[in-house]
Amino acid sequence: MTGNETRILIVEDEPTIARAVADRLAAEGFGVDVAADGPAAVERARAYEPHLIVLDVMLPGFDGLEVCRRVQAERPVPVLMLTARDDETDLIVGLGVGADDYVTKPFSMRELVARVRALLRRVERPRPGIPEAADVVRAGPLEVDQRARRVRLDGREVHLTPTEFDLLTCLLRNRGAVLTRAVLLEQVWDWADASGTRVVDSHVKALRRKLGQGLIRTVHGVGYSLDAAS
Ligand code: CA
Repeated sequence: MTGNETRILIVEDEPTIARAVADRLAAEGFGVDVAADGPAAVERARAYEPHLIVLDVMLPGFDGLEVCRRVQAERPVPVLMLTARDDETDLIVGLGVGADDYVTKPFSMRELVARVRALLRRVERPRPGIPEAADVVRAGPLEVDQRARRVRLDGREVHLTPTEFDLLTCLLRNRGAVLTRAVLLEQVWDWADASGTRVVDSHVKALRRKLGQGLIRTVHGVGYSLDAAS
């Protein structure tokens, strides 16, 4: 493993899928490591220090949700979750376990690579000297340090995933305006097509659970807005 390599940990108990994903990501130039159960995933995440984790939900030992919780508690790392069905994705996002994106099985390797790259781009987006962004933005009880990517609510630090943070700052920068799901999807997720708007709803739900229900307003049939008055 070289110093500049982007490392990806693949957690998947099905050997065929694990190997296919590992081979493809390695061919794309990533460093890869594989774990096949919950405890091994947590151990590898600690030792390998991946830049991103591709994480299956159903695993022996303990499941992907528990892996996500334990790993995120030690070190924030972007997580792309592999789910079995669309309704399972909604369920998991509703729990707010801290995954950043979801791919439903069966997926194409092309789609997986695109999502991995989009997620890494978002997380690695240059932060120092963002011209339009003041370092600390306040909105009511909320205090957002854009440079350090930290959020406080009533003075208490709130842990957000990279995606939740990006979604919040996008709404914050456009405070008072209503942003459509398609716009949020493009701005936050880098998705050119608007097919995955459900993922926006799910992340808004997660933000509301962490920051309170009153902050982000749903504009029915249009999108979301962070109130200018707050
Ligand atoms: Ca599995």
